[in-house]
Amino acid sequence: MTDVVDAPVAVKPINHWIGGKPYAGSSGRSGPVFNPATGQQSGAVDFASVEEVDRAVQAARAAFPAWRALSIAKRAEILFAIRELVHERREEIAKILTSEHGKVLSDAVGEVTRGLEVIEFCCGIPHLLKGGMSEQASTGIDVYSIRQPLGVVAGITPFNFPAMVPMWMWAPALACGNTFVLKPSEKDPSASVYTAELLKEAGVPDGVFNVIHGDKVAVDAILGHPDIAAVSFVGSTPIAKYVYETATASGKRCQALGGAKNHMIVLPDADVEMAADAAVSAAYGSAGERCMAVSMLVAVGDVADPLIDAIRDRIPNVKVGDGMDSSSEMGPLITREHRDKVASYLEDGGGDLLVDGRESCPDDGFFLAPSLIDGLEPGMRAYDDEIFGPVLGVTRVATYDEAVRLVNENPYGNGTAIFTRDGGVARQFQFEVQAGMVGINVPIPVPVAYYSFGGWKNSLFGDRHIYGPEGIDFYTRSKVVTSRWPDPATSKVDLGFPQTR
Ligand code: NAD
Repeated sequence: MTDVVDAPVAVKPINHWIGGKPYAGSSGRSGPVFNPATGQQSGAVDFASVEEVDRAVQAARAAFPAWRALSIAKRAEILFAIRELVHERREEIAKILTSEHGKVLSDAVGEVTRGLEVIEFCCGIPHLLKGGMSEQASTGIDVYSIRQPLGVVAGITPFNFPAMVPMWMWAPALACGNTFVLKPSEKDPSASVYTAELLKEAGVPDGVFNVIHGDKVAVDAILGHPDIAAVSFVGSTPIAKYVYETATASGKRCQALGGAKNHMIVLPDADVEMAADAAVSAAYGSAGERCMAVSMLVAVGDVADPLIDAIRDRIPNVKVGDGMDSSSEMGPLITREHRDKVASYLEDGGGDLLVDGRESCPDDGFFLAPSLIDGLEPGMRAYDDEIFGPVLGVTRVATYDEAVRLVNENPYGNGTAIFTRDGGVARQFQFEVQAGMVGINVPIPVPVAYYSFGGWKNSLFGDRHIYGPEGIDFYTRSKVVTSRWPDPATSKVDLGFPQTR
């Protein structure tokens, strides 16, 4: 977590957003926000006190009755307006992302576009909230189910997708009629404030969407707040587990998505050039700071040497630089501390270091160029840990069975992929692999918005995946109504347990 420092005068203050307007924090605590491409501090973000979190929750609570009573048609209309504004401003949002996260502009536009797909799915909320109906379930009795919002719900999000991951949460939450408190990452918080302004412009009433910045103090205040009904979390596994256990202990519904170690298996019959392109794109895109990044390549049989050669040929061509420069393909890492931590795996993570990214990066900023380590095995630090940087590990195995065992025995189960020309093996892989999202000749299988996103094992705590149909389930609870409009002529007293007739 970022060190708490006194806010310097020369940098941009980044405030909370409560009840439809900016709210300057008064806790006396703030955190630095950097431009990772230059290493310079660009902002100071307010860190909320427990009282400030409560203020945001009370604003959301006050806004809830009117928002949930708004017709579904009106809520859909507002979602369409949000969709138009996000689409229109995607370049502007992307620039904010690049300036604080560091990812290259084209990737930042891609992030907004994938988030937009979730908003577009939520524009269909009239259809998504349809219940079921059984007419004449018993004589003269109809039974129907409806889905209702939970109330005030909260989202706690990571640094690596500062716009998209919040969209995974607030879009379905609001569409279902909940009001929302967002606690974004303190490392790149400006996109959330921009989102708040944009939602207001689209017609979202004051108090329906609030942003509270901060660290563990703010998170703990959310987890223990009696007026928050549900918490969505995306971040690292230890914090996801903590959030899930703490939120559920205080009676909240919780979905907490954690970290990953995604394996890409390449079989001897795969197209080596295609697999190398996919591995380089999926390992080094966004500097490896994606929960769906490929971090382990499992080379089966004699594919290892040609595959590694093909990857080594490609690495020098990846242009590392400031994300604002349109020729850059890979930007810096999020902070100096994180960059140094990632680099430490090149020093003593195990295996044979084939390409050392420390040797060819820009001097300023938090850069580390693509790195490649061969000969990794479970038990080595660089194999076991989620490195979350531009480091691709290779492990060599003799058979498909050994490869699948590596994936299934790994404590994480977010994404995985297989590269092969054999449909039968691919189908067997899909059947037996223990991961929530599977790619067949697709390296980063992030589900489209009308499916749901989520991993297995230590990559997700809770029983519902995020966005898509499971997102709608998460943000609503069902009610079943049994109804009779009796003919007075057939009415009589009956003390027996109700039975169908
Ligand atoms: P993180 O866990 O450090 O932070 C996530 C959120 O938790 C932030 O809002 C942060 O302020 C808060 N937080 C941090 N430490 C805390 C503490 N001790 N107590 C309470 N709250 C705390 O994660 P990050 O570094 O921002 O993001 C990277 C991680 O997120 C990676 O592990 C990545 O795999 C994961 N991630 C997972 C998914 C997924 O869908 N499974 C998606 C994106 C990122």
